[in-house]
Amino acid sequence: MVDRKKSEGFCNELDKIRIAKIIDNFIWEEPCVTDKNGVCAIFFSGCNLKCSYCQNYEISRGKVGKIYDEDEFIELLKEKEKNNSYFDFITPTHFSNAILNALKKYQPKIPIIWNSSGYESVKMLEKLDKYISIYLLDFKYIEDDLGKRLSHVSNYSTIAKKVLDFCAKKKDVFRDNLMKEGLILRHLVLPGEIKNSLDTLDYLASKYSDRFVSLMSQFTPTPQSPIKRKLSPLEYKIVVNKFLKSFQNGYIQDFDSASEDFIPKFLE
Ligand code: SF4
Repeated sequence: MVDRKKSEGFCNELDKIRIAKIIDNFIWEEPCVTDKNGVCAIFFSGCNLKCSYCQNYEISRGKVGKIYDEDEFIELLKEKEKNNSYFDFITPTHFSNAILNALKKYQPKIPIIWNSSGYESVKMLEKLDKYISIYLLDFKYIEDDLGKRLSHVSNYSTIAKKVLDFCAKKKDVFRDNLMKEGLILRHLVLPGEIKNSLDTLDYLASKYSDRFVSLMSQFTPTPQSPIKRKLSPLEYKIVVNKFLKSFQNGYIQDFDSASEDFIPKFLE
């Protein structure tokens, strides 16, 4: 076990919150959490996975951005909640402890979206849960082998299933057509991995066909990605057909979303 007070962990970060980018008025793919009054997207630096195809690789490998101590993070929340109607914490998992300590001292008045990879500790989520309004949760792979091959962890699916069961306890609450509490599941369709997508959707539908699911097509090869091509129209059509038969609620990203335009410019 690494002591992250002294050395960086697998996430390439110490235990102090580091933020790579903050974007006001961020537009999400899911309209139910895209309020015209603004979403403050906070991109944390580093990640507890190492997806070889990562679209955010410029920041997910860590050591990018500004370190915030607890008081500075609280001040940031106070400042940003004035002009936004949601906080979106993006890839926050490896800073869960520091975020929890800050939220115990100051709870923002606007909902917090916990936007994570699905690979995290249920015990920690139990502690965070009273401060989190919406889980925006990736479900990447249904087989642990694929998580090992593509994200360098041996038990992604095993962990993500437990996390999903926990997050699904949060009931969906809507006001003025906007989700104020609840769960949105995301699945990114990867080129060449259609079987994984079909099996993943089968699994999700077998347990949570009534929850919001967001199907994403936006994968774009980055220079370091071993996946060198975009999704084909036929691949996406097959998965979309399955999606339409499986879920009552959700969103299907346009096929032409596979563009670098969908990757924020992190290092500007
Ligand atoms: S979980 Fe997301 S941010 Fe982290 S390495 Fe994988 S794709 Fe990148």
